[in-house]
Amino acid sequence: DWRAAVGDRHILLAGPRSFCAGVERAIETVERALERFGAPVYVRRQIVHNRYVVEDLERRGAVFVEEVDAVPEGSLLVLAAHGVAPAVRAEAAARRLRVVDATCPLVAKVHQEVRRYAARDDTVVLIGHAEHEEVVGTIGEAPGQVLVVSTPDEAATVDVPDPSRVAYAMQTTLAVEDAAETVAVLRRRFPGLKGPRTDDICYATSNRQAGVRRIARQSDLVVVLGSQNSSNSRRLAEVAEAAGAPAVLIDTASELPLKLLAGATTIGVTAGASAPPALVDDLVRCLSGLGSVTVTETGETTEDIRFVLPKEVNQP
Ligand code: SF4
Repeated sequence: DWRAAVGDRHILLAGPRSFCAGVERAIETVERALERFGAPVYVRRQIVHNRYVVEDLERRGAVFVEEVDAVPEGSLLVLAAHGVAPAVRAEAAARRLRVVDATCPLVAKVHQEVRRYAARDDTVVLIGHAEHEEVVGTIGEAPGQVLVVSTPDEAATVDVPDPSRVAYAMQTTLAVEDAAETVAVLRRRFPGLKGPRTDDICYATSNRQAGVRRIARQSDLVVVLGSQNSSNSRRLAEVAEAAGAPAVLIDTASELPLKLLAGATTIGVTAGASAPPALVDDLVRCLSGLGSVTVTETGETTEDIRFVLPKEVNQP
């Protein structure tokens, strides 16, 4: 009954939330490519894992494809923020595509690490979710030399050819605490373990997790705006639940199950790094339609990281 959802509420906005620098750069890359070269601009896979963003760019002339072979020869192709295996670049070159690479620089850094370890003949244990596009791309840097583990249990049993030659790398959007546990297991098993100086989890992922953890303790319900295939958004819902608040991950306010609002007077709100800030405003507006709301901004982290655009779209 929707009437149970009506009531006065307090909304706690987690800070920081929504777009990170890598996502802003990737979206702007497609926008600039459309301006400069005109439609259609082909994009391999979702430019960022957000349905709303993809649909918006589609309306403006971007064409999203699964694989390079769906792009007509000689066309312009943007590679998405999650990065690709070198084999994909080779395929694009073979089709004489003009490639604009929107891979987030923080993902590119992980690729570099994997190449470096692989060149030293290390086995690379990649902590991440095997089916995620970012992980698929990273594995592609050294196929056959990368083993994916997603949990401490998997790390405890992963079988490597030479335990004295092991390195690790990570997907950028993992849950900070779970990943640390997994690294600890690897370190116990492989004393010579090599790894990045600081973890590969990016600043945006860890800041958003800290932000949602702060509000979860005081919230009756945490709403995470983001798509189901967005790794960092899913982790935000998990972190909120681990901190004791029921959490729901939705693409837009219209998907919020009203029954969850019954009895929930303090609602925590955050958004994944691929979810536009406008979706948060929209949710707050919808909640205001069900009663009076007070809105409190929380969180102190200001993010001033910006990445330069790919050179093909960066000239004035
Ligand atoms: Fe880059 Fe992190 Fe944003 Fe992914 S979440 S695009 S790694 S800044």
